[in-house]
Amino acid sequence: MLKIGVLGLQGAVREHIRSIEASGAEGIVVKKVEQLAALDGLILPGGESTTMRRLVDRYGFMEPLREFGRQGKPMFGTCAGLIMLANHIVGYDEPHIGLMDITVERNSFGRQRESFETNLSVEGIADSYTAVFIRAPHIVSVGEGTEVLAEYEGRIVAARDRNFLACSFHPELTDDHSITKYFVQMAEQAKLTHV
Ligand code: GLN
Repeated sequence: MLKIGVLGLQGAVREHIRSIEASGAEGIVVKKVEQLAALDGLILPGGESTTMRRLVDRYGFMEPLREFGRQGKPMFGTCAGLIMLANHIVGYDEPHIGLMDITVERNSFGRQRESFETNLSVEGIADSYTAVFIRAPHIVSVGEGTEVLAEYEGRIVAARDRNFLACSFHPELTDDHSITKYFVQMAEQAKLTHV
């Protein structure tokens, strides 16, 4: 069975494990660098990106995470995880992990709309997907090789660049597992091409 990890330092970890298991893969909470070697893909969950960054540094995850992505292993960033993956963050000099060719802006949807639900069409995945946004970032622009998968009110909220997938919303908080399934398929494909 495919093994999909969820970075378990902070944030919405359990819900992702449930969604991975509903998608037919084994979900593993990752708390130690040594666990990365056994994984076919890794989800960076929502939470708070500055806190997540501090914990990534404290537990020595930064270089191993970059290495994981550079090897072509799929990584999926949701909400704060999207901010972690982006190679440019508006207002910051340096990115965090910085492997995905997108520019992201934090807390994009205003105070009065701290959280909301809406239906989105997600390219190649779902015609009507219930997306839950919580103090969500959005993708300001994407690099040439990056495919835009969903937009909300003219803002990009999901994209894929090679082995990197990211969305502004929380795919683990509903019973629609289609996006997690799509990520599991990315991991399946990557495994086939790397053996
Ligand atoms: N606003 C948070 C951040 O900047 C992300 C929110 C979330 O993951 N739900 O890290």
